[in-house]
Amino acid sequence: MRYISTRGTAPVLSFEEAMLTGLARDGGLYVPETIPTLSKDQIAAMAGQSYEEVAFTVMRPFIGDTFTDEEFRELIAKAYGSFGHVARAPMVQLAPNHFLLELFHGPTLAFKDFAMQLIGQMFQKALGRKGERVTIVGATSGDTGSAAIEAFRGLDNVDVFILYPHGRVSEVQRRQMTTPTELNVHALAVDGDFDDCQARLKDMFNDFEFRDGVKLAGVNSINWGRVLAQVVYYFSSAVSLGAPDREVSFTVPTGNFGDIFAGYIARQMGLPIADLVVATNQNDILDRCLKGQGYHKGGVHASISPSMDIQVSSNFERALFDAYGRDGAAIKQLMDELGQGGFDVSQGALQALQEIYHSGRASEEETSATIADTLKTSAELLCPHSAIGVKVANEQRDPAIPMITLATAHPAKFPDAVEAATGVRPGLPPRMADLFDRDERLTRVDNDLDALKTLIKGKLNA
Ligand SMILES: *Cc1c(COP(=O)(O)O)cnc(C)c1O
Repeated sequence: MRYISTRGTAPVLSFEEAMLTGLARDGGLYVPETIPTLSKDQIAAMAGQSYEEVAFTVMRPFIGDTFTDEEFRELIAKAYGSFGHVARAPMVQLAPNHFLLELFHGPTLAFKDFAMQLIGQMFQKALGRKGERVTIVGATSGDTGSAAIEAFRGLDNVDVFILYPHGRVSEVQRRQMTTPTELNVHALAVDGDFDDCQARLKDMFNDFEFRDGVKLAGVNSINWGRVLAQVVYYFSSAVSLGAPDREVSFTVPTGNFGDIFAGYIARQMGLPIADLVVATNQNDILDRCLKGQGYHKGGVHASISPSMDIQVSSNFERALFDAYGRDGAAIKQLMDELGQGGFDVSQGALQALQEIYHSGRASEEETSATIADTLKTSAELLCPHSAIGVKVANEQRDPAIPMITLATAHPAKFPDAVEAATGVRPGLPPRMADLFDRDERLTRVDNDLDALKTLIKGKLNA
C-alpha cells in the first residue's frame, strides 16, 4: 500500500512513513493510492465480533508491512484497553430507526481517543524499533490536544507540544491538557483562535529547517493514521444494524472533516452507506460549500460547540482531491486561492461531492433546543456537538433507512452548555472525578511563528 499527496509533488510513501510524517512536504495530505475493498462475506463475518477484531479486519489492508499481524493485533488491544466501555463504540436508540453511536468512552471522553490511542501505540512501536525520537506538534480546538497528550504522555520516543486557543476551550478540555505530570507533554496557550493555531502549525511544517531540526511529526486530523482508525466504527455500527444486507446512513458533527471522511472511506471499501450527512454549527462554511456557494473564509464565531469552530477544514482537501479526479495540480491551485480568502468549486467537482455528502447546520439556539428536546423525548443527555448531529439528522433522514448519528463527546466535557439547555449538570465519569483538583501546567505564547519555534527548541533542550 502506497500513499500519495493531494498536491501531487511530494514523495510517495509507505504507511509507516506517511503516519510518522503527517503533512506532506508539498503542503498536501497523504491518501492511499488505491482504496482496498472488503467483500460482502468479509463484512458479514464482522457480526458479533469484538470491536478489536473488526478494527483488525478494516485497517489491516492499509498498513502494508509496517506491522506484522501479531504486532498489529497487540497495538489495537493496547489502544482500546483503556476505554470505559467493553463495546468501545456502543449504540443507543434515540427514536424509531435513529441511533446514537457513543464515541465518548475513551480516556478523554471524545471520539478523538479512537484514533489517538492507536496512533500513540503505533508511533511508539515504529520509533522504538528505529531508535528514533520525534517532536509531535499539534493544534487543537480542545479535544485533539487532550486526546494526544493522554495518548503520548510518558511514552519514550516522543515530545508533544499542543497549541490551543487561549480562553476558547472548555475547562474540562483545558484541564485534560494541563494536568498530566509527565514532562514529555506540553500545553501551549496561543493568543489567537483555532485557525491561528492551525496556521502556525502549518508554518512550522513548511519551515523545513525547523521541521528537520526537531524531527517534527504531526498527529492532527490530517494524519492518515487517524482517519484510518475512525473508519472502524462505521463498520462496527453498520454491521450491528444489519449491514451488509441493510443500508444505513450516518450524520457526523463536522469540523476538520476527518470523521466524515472516514465514513467516505468505509463506503469506498464496500460498506453500504446510503447518505453521509455533514452537520455544522454556525461556522457553516462546509454546509454552504456543499450547497454550491463556494468555499470562502469569514471569521470564526465562538460557539457552544467549540470543537467545530473553524473556517479552514483541513481534511476537506482529501474530499476535493477525489472530487477533482485526483488532480494534484488543481488542488494546489485551490489551496493557493484559499490562502487569498477562498475558492469556487467547479461544477463537475461539486456534483461529485453532492453525490456523496449531504449537509445541514444548526444555530446556537437550535443546538440548545435539541439538547433539551432529546433529554425529554429520549432520556439522553447530548453534548452540544452531538446535538448538532441529531438536529441535522432529524431534518434529513429517510425514515426507512436507519440513521446513525455520531455522538462525538461526553456531555460532561461541555457541562455549562448542557446545564444551560437542560438545567441538568452532567457529571464526569468516576474514573476522572478528581480532574478539578489536579494542578495545571501550561505556557502562554504569542500567535507568532518565531516565538513558538524558540519556545519549543528551548523546552526540548531543557
Ligand atoms: C473534533 C471534534 C469534532 C469534529 O470532527 P472532525 O473530524 O474535525 O470533523 C466534532 N465533535 C467533537 C466533540 C470533536 O472533538
